[in-house]
This record gives sequence, C-alpha cells and structure tokens, in this order.
Amino acid sequence: MAHILITSGPTREYFDPVRYLTNASSGRMGVALAQAALEDGHQVSIVTGPVEVEYPVSARVVPVLTTREMMNAASEIFASADGLIGAAAPCDYMPRRVETSKLSKTGQGLHLELVETPDIVATLGASKRTGQWVVGFALETDDLRFRSIVKMSKKSCDMIVSNRPQAMNAMDNSVEILFKDGRLLEQVDGPKSIVARAILRWIDQLLIKDRS
Ligand code: C5P
Repeated sequence: MAHILITSGPTREYFDPVRYLTNASSGRMGVALAQAALEDGHQVSIVTGPVEVEYPVSARVVPVLTTREMMNAASEIFASADGLIGAAAPCDYMPRRVETSKLSKTGQGLHLELVETPDIVATLGASKRTGQWVVGFALETDDLRFRSIVKMSKKSCDMIVSNRPQAMNAMDNSVEILFKDGRLLEQVDGPKSIVARAILRWIDQLLIKDRS
C-alpha cells in the first residue's frame, strides 16, 4: 500500500476580487485516478482547484484556489507521501499585481502584467527522496512524444502521460504512457476511468512493487 498524492483540476489567478485567469480542466482525470488508486488499496490525498466533480469519499481532499496554494498544500503532503500524480492544470501565469478593489472600466482597455507561477511537479520532482516517485502529464498540440520525453526529464518525472488539448473537460482521453528510460509503455484510448486504470497498473508495477 502506498500513499499517493494527486493534484487535480484548474487553479485560479485573481487580478481583482472578482476576476481571474483559469482554464477548462474539469478534475475528471483526478477523480478517475483517485478511484483507481483506492481500488488498488492505496491511501489517496488530493489537492484540487475549484471543480464540480466529486472525489471518492475515502480520499482526503484539500481544496485550493491558486497555483501557489496548490504548491504549498502539495509540498506539505508530499513530505509524507510515496508518490505524486500531477494531473492538475495549474495556471502557469499569475498577475504581478492583484487589485484589492474591483477594477472599473475606463474605456482604455487593460494591460495585465503576468509572471510565472511555481511549477509543482518540477519542484516536487526535484525534491524527491529515495523511493519517492513522480508521474506528470503533458498536454501538447505538436511533437507530442518528443516534448513529453523532454518534459519528463526536465520535471524529474519517473513516468509521463501525454495527451492532447481535446482531453480538457472531456469524458474520454487518448494517451501515451512513457517511462523515464524512454519506453512507450502503453497507448490507451477510452473513458478516463480506463485510462486511469492503465496508469495505476504501470505505477503499481514499475514504481511501487519494485520498491516494496
Ligand atoms: O509544462 P506543462 O504545464 O505542460 O506540464 C504539465 C505537467 O506539469 C502536469 O503534470 C501538470 O500538473 C504540471 N504542472 C504543475 N505546475 C504548474 C504547471 C504544470 O505541476 N505550474
């Protein structure tokens, strides 16, 4: 049995009290991964951005809003977890300045200055202790396989699941599961529950069983 941390859903980056940047991530892949991990007898913690989906009741769920909050909550839990599955779609940018009052229209348009948010998978990947593992996701429009392999190495992932933008907010997914040694482990198409089952099977086989 392993303690698996899953990041799931989008994050929000506010630029005034009511307006924010986000993306269309639904959290469905996170739900499916949590279900598959629990079925395999693992303990599951989920750090999630705002979503409408419901996570399995036996998972510990920590709700957050921003990428920084997701980073802080995930770091704390990762310290006592065996592995991380980074299925969230955190905003990569946040406004440099967050207004405390709602911005009024001026007729002049609005220039937002954005700065990069921390990369959760890369940060936790770089901090892995012996025996800990990290599985990332890569969403790409072009050169999917190549970019996913580069991303896996840059973010210190042991495995990466590559998919296309059609995966966002969809019921189904079409993925390639790639291992750190460069092997294509499996290509899976179908409902996110089937994709999650396949991912967990490889995690159990290559990242958990070998180390227990
Ligand atoms: O670089 P890109 O966003 O395509 O990488 C995707 C992977 O990195 C996913 O596993 C996602 O959860 C993770 N990620 C993250 N923190 C960010 C951006 C992406 O953990 N700020």
